[in-house]
Amino acid sequence: MELTIHRGTEQIGGTVITVRTPNTCIALDAGTALEGDALEEKQRLSAILGEAADGIFLTHAHPDHAGLLMERNLRSPVYMTEDTQKILLAASLLGNGIPVSRDLVRKLPLGNPIRIGDLSVTAFEVDHSVAGAVAFLVEGGGTRLLYTGDIRMHGIHLARTEELCKAVAGRVDVLLMEGTNMDTQRPDVVKSEGDVHREIAASVTAARGLVLAHCSPQNVDRILGFINAARASGRIFVADVYTAFVLYLLKRRLPDHPALHDPPPYYRTWLNRASAARAGRIWKGDGNFMPLVEHAQVNLQDMLADPGRYVLLFRPSMLHTDFGEKLPEGTTLIYSAWSGYLREEPWKAPWAPVLSQLDAAHIQHIHTSGHISRSDWVSFVDRIGPHMVIPVHTEKPESYAEAFARVHRLADGETFSIPQRNKD
Ligand SMILES: [Zn+2]
Repeated sequence: MELTIHRGTEQIGGTVITVRTPNTCIALDAGTALEGDALEEKQRLSAILGEAADGIFLTHAHPDHAGLLMERNLRSPVYMTEDTQKILLAASLLGNGIPVSRDLVRKLPLGNPIRIGDLSVTAFEVDHSVAGAVAFLVEGGGTRLLYTGDIRMHGIHLARTEELCKAVAGRVDVLLMEGTNMDTQRPDVVKSEGDVHREIAASVTAARGLVLAHCSPQNVDRILGFINAARASGRIFVADVYTAFVLYLLKRRLPDHPALHDPPPYYRTWLNRASAARAGRIWKGDGNFMPLVEHAQVNLQDMLADPGRYVLLFRPSMLHTDFGEKLPEGTTLIYSAWSGYLREEPWKAPWAPVLSQLDAAHIQHIHTSGHISRSDWVSFVDRIGPHMVIPVHTEKPESYAEAFARVHRLADGETFSIPQRNKD
């Protein structure tokens, strides 16, 4: 089995990996760089993905792993979990994504290997900041490779990681391991998703006016944290139509939460100006969703008349499109995403007029990383017990050697032949 990391040995995101045997070639992830890709780079990577004729396997729906699928000239079948397919569908209808052609999508089973030429690929659910994320065990030519995709152990679904460890411990030759948080200059990430939910609940309870909640509509665990916080404080959570559509598509896979199954008393939908225009696109695609939205709709006047009753999922563009540049008096913003979007170009501009209206006490930053902490990294690798670890999805590949003895670094584009080991 030959492994090539075309991009990702020294950067976070934009991951493109191929695995080949003499008769088979697959790709693992098809990501665009976090800061976007120039046309030439897109064309170079699309050509590589074109060689992966037997299939492109997606770990999850984030653009830094799936963004190159938006290239229209791709012809390979694309394997993804049902949840990833749904998230990509919602993003294509209501966000910025372009749909992957239905003819190319192949649904991935969880926990059961599928055979692709000389290779067998098994998807294992993992915990990450988007629903539907998986790791891949790739077997063939007498060797086993485990690719983590993006993974963490401080989320709600630790049991998934436990299952993965149980299934593969002691059987992995090469562990292709993400290391987003391997920067030893920064404090180790310790706040759990559960801690984040408790802090959100405390903040919503303490707030008096309207609460604006900002997080990714694809981060369903976090959205549920906000819904529960609203419920506990007697408020109504208001989803924009994008978030409502994601919750609707994934409801069968979510915990048994009454707000997601009944006509929602705590979760209502706001068809704001921007989304009302887009909502027409899903009207045809799913006849059941729109009546649900209309049944449980809230409008801005309701919210402005009694702002202390609501937690509203918020995007900075709404300040202009819906709030007429002025937030209601006493509004609290719970910002639950990476802080760089508030501080750094090109993301900070839309936030500036929002932040300028709120004093420091009314801006709460409550968040944790979607990626494994350094200390959990060590215990995860220890439990898997791989023959070797290869760094990927990291800016600090050199720091892996401080955490694990058998690290083999590759350069982008370098092909590595995975050595066969004597098997039990
Ligand atoms: Zn990533």
